[in-house]
Amino acid sequence: MHLKIAVLAGDGIGPEVTQEAVQILRAVAEMGGYDFQFQQLLLGGVAITAAGTPLPTATLDACLESDAALLGAVGDNKFNALPPDRRPEAGLLQIRQALGGYANLRPSIAYKPLTNNSPLRPEVTEGANILFVRELLGGLYFGEPRSWNKDTNLAINTMRYTRDEVARVARVAFELASKRKKKVTSVDKANVLEVSQLWRATVTEIAAQYPDVTLEHQLVDSMAMHLMNIPRNFDVVLTENLFGDILSDEAAVITGSLGMLPSATIGGAVNLYEPVHGSAPDIAGTGKANPLGAILTAAMVLRHSAGLEQDAQAVETAVNNVLEAGYRTADLARGNQPGQQIVTTREMGKLVHSALNEIIDRRQAMHAV
Ligand code: NAD
Repeated sequence: MHLKIAVLAGDGIGPEVTQEAVQILRAVAEMGGYDFQFQQLLLGGVAITAAGTPLPTATLDACLESDAALLGAVGDNKFNALPPDRRPEAGLLQIRQALGGYANLRPSIAYKPLTNNSPLRPEVTEGANILFVRELLGGLYFGEPRSWNKDTNLAINTMRYTRDEVARVARVAFELASKRKKKVTSVDKANVLEVSQLWRATVTEIAAQYPDVTLEHQLVDSMAMHLMNIPRNFDVVLTENLFGDILSDEAAVITGSLGMLPSATIGGAVNLYEPVHGSAPDIAGTGKANPLGAILTAAMVLRHSAGLEQDAQAVETAVNNVLEAGYRTADLARGNQPGQQIVTTREMGKLVHSALNEIIDRRQAMHAV
């Protein structure tokens, strides 16, 4: 297995958490005998400082020649006075667009040791493991016409989808569901919107190609409620762009901390992997950053770009084991809970690394028998 990974650590806590994610990928490569190559590239504020632009051409070219791009976070207050198109965040939007992924995958998992971190009761979140598949290139965010006429006080945005745009993201959802609990919940507003009626008809048509996967349709308003009432009822949730933006943030409360959330954007020229959080300038350099979102993002690289499902699961289990043993970064700490030990970013990374070693050693020993 050969994998060329472009690493865009970015700003603030980006480099701190990305370093831990890369260490985990290196460990997996070493233990599995895989050839993973990493190339560090500039994006965001660090790129503005070094090259005068948030997305240097060299970064984009190198990403396009890679098998996967792993991003930390961008954003630095010292560039706040720049116009939006020259700020660090512009680099992120440009690279997402240039890599062209249309399916944004965001898992929301209730890790058992963190059930007290969610504002929801543990008996509600227990067992929840949802994968959002959000269409990323269409819908209300991109539809034309769009305008704001300040003379007439009229503003317009357009929700627009073609059958093919819906079909390709639906296929991603069904493929993924067929390797999970075999259920897709498609979210729309088909009782009001024609776009949603096209969405529902197309998803139903694609579902026929996946007879082992159950399809249910939910209206977005009632879905917002069901997600909080019975999150464990959902497996893969397929949504258009705007609904997915809102619902995946809502479902993030299941996990208990922004620092725990990974994501992947697939379907374009190169898959782009990034933790959901930003550059957190308030804690940058303090060792307080939670690297688990970035490490779980590395697990998504293994699953979706390397096809190494067993190794991806090993990383996820290692994260769970470290949490089970009571280790917490500051964002995950809850009062004076017995057995809880606060650790730094680096320490958390090392703990996951040794938990991963144990899991893979055990797996290899079992295969040797
Ligand atoms: P943020 O996600 O950086 O931080 C929000 C809060 O969560 C902060 O209190 C922060 O300390 C905390 N936090 C975030 N990640 C954490 C982690 N891994 N461990 C522990 N605590 C964590 O969002 P923000 O404060 O709104 O934005 C800060 C900067 O990041 C801005 O410049 C913004 O534009 C940028 N941003 C970048 C991305 C990205 O690169 N994908 C996403 C969101 C925001």
